[in-house]
Amino acid sequence: MAVTVLIPMPLRPFVGGKDALELDGGSVGEVLEQLTIEHSGLRKHLFGDDGRLRSFVNVYVNDRDIRQLAQQQTQVAAGDTVSIIPSIAGGTAVADTLPKLSHEEILRYSRHLILPDVGVEGQRKLKAARVLLIGAGGLGSPAALYLAAAGIGTLGMVDFDVVDKTNLQRQILHGTQTVGVPKLESARRRIEDLNPNVQVETFETRLTSENALDIIREFDVVADGTDNFATRYLVNDACVLLGKPNVYGSIFRFEGQASVFYAKEGPCYRCLYPEPPPPGLVPSCAEGGVLGVLPGIIGSIQAMETIKLVLGRGELLIGRLLLFDALRLKFRELKLERDPDCPVCGRNPTITSLIDYEAFCGVGPEPAYDGAEVTVLDLKEELDAGKPIAIVDVREPHEYEIASIPGARLIPLGELPERLRELDDHAEIVTHCHHGARSLKALEILRAAGFSKVRSLKGGIDAWAVNVDPEMPRY
Ligand code: ZN
Repeated sequence: MAVTVLIPMPLRPFVGGKDALELDGGSVGEVLEQLTIEHSGLRKHLFGDDGRLRSFVNVYVNDRDIRQLAQQQTQVAAGDTVSIIPSIAGGTAVADTLPKLSHEEILRYSRHLILPDVGVEGQRKLKAARVLLIGAGGLGSPAALYLAAAGIGTLGMVDFDVVDKTNLQRQILHGTQTVGVPKLESARRRIEDLNPNVQVETFETRLTSENALDIIREFDVVADGTDNFATRYLVNDACVLLGKPNVYGSIFRFEGQASVFYAKEGPCYRCLYPEPPPPGLVPSCAEGGVLGVLPGIIGSIQAMETIKLVLGRGELLIGRLLLFDALRLKFRELKLERDPDCPVCGRNPTITSLIDYEAFCGVGPEPAYDGAEVTVLDLKEELDAGKPIAIVDVREPHEYEIASIPGARLIPLGELPERLRELDDHAEIVTHCHHGARSLKALEILRAAGFSKVRSLKGGIDAWAVNVDPEMPRY
């Protein structure tokens, strides 16, 4: 029978993650010698250059502190338990491997360093941390700024968009100077100015089933700020499969949600929402609007939870869904239970590798609308030639107030089925909206109701403003 050696958490990475090992030896010295022969990476953590046990490593035999004894020579027998205990709870041994802070960093982070729950060790943990932000938009903006300012050592960012002027109302990572610049380039410039100590790793790509595991694997914490359901499920499943915490935030109009999905300790996103809503039911921020400050609040909560995860401090939003109503300024909290039958984190998971998330969310390829769409230039030509065409604007009244095509009749998409009688079913009809998506839905409604001569304006009123009437405001 051998001696059992208990390995403390900070040293487990050096012994293949094991918490205990069976080793042979007649004394503590011989057992530790055997241990470091079998796991050579441990040697520098246990022994100094002079071959003596490091001062912060204490050894107990069967719960007896042998510090006062000549510990290496202490005899052990089969069945004994040798415990290796780093001198400070939390792991001086680990602190030994954390990056050091420069004088500049000590000054920069001084308000953290004097906080008992952060301190020098916490700040070094932040410096060692690798955090991945999915999306550099509304939620990613405040999260990136606060995480960079707080001294997260490596910030990964995934995005493939270009900064657009309509982003600036809420995406405070970007500015007027970087309109037209890729968001990741814009983010890199801003973060470098804010805190040049932060390493920014950019992934200018759409996150897919093919690349998600490779990208996420390299990070400790993921903060998900995506704007579509397919990517939400992709991020969730990849995090569950890799055992990574997923700091979740979402926003719509005046409402936000936040949680931390960490399958090791609580439910995942699929435990909460096993299936996505049908496509089109929940409008995106581009269609439904969002109050600019809202992502600032939710993204900041994501940054806060990320920092707590890295520090290992406080109570996390694991198993809790935080709901925020900006108009009433109310936070509510729902308790989340883990679903034992969850297809990805449950007892018998059916999802053991990444799937086709577009298909899962019913996004599918765009239906073909051959001949159903008319370009703004063709429509202008037909109108100028005096062709009788009824233009039906299916946007909302407050959009109509911003800009409208002369002569268009406003019938919001939601009211269209009840207001069909207002339209002549023999007339030439062109439906239009902001960018051309809602007007295709209107076209389907009209065709199903027997209207035969209906077309939809490709690119919507925005294309009209660009190509036909440059005086018209865009939004
Ligand atoms: Zn789950």
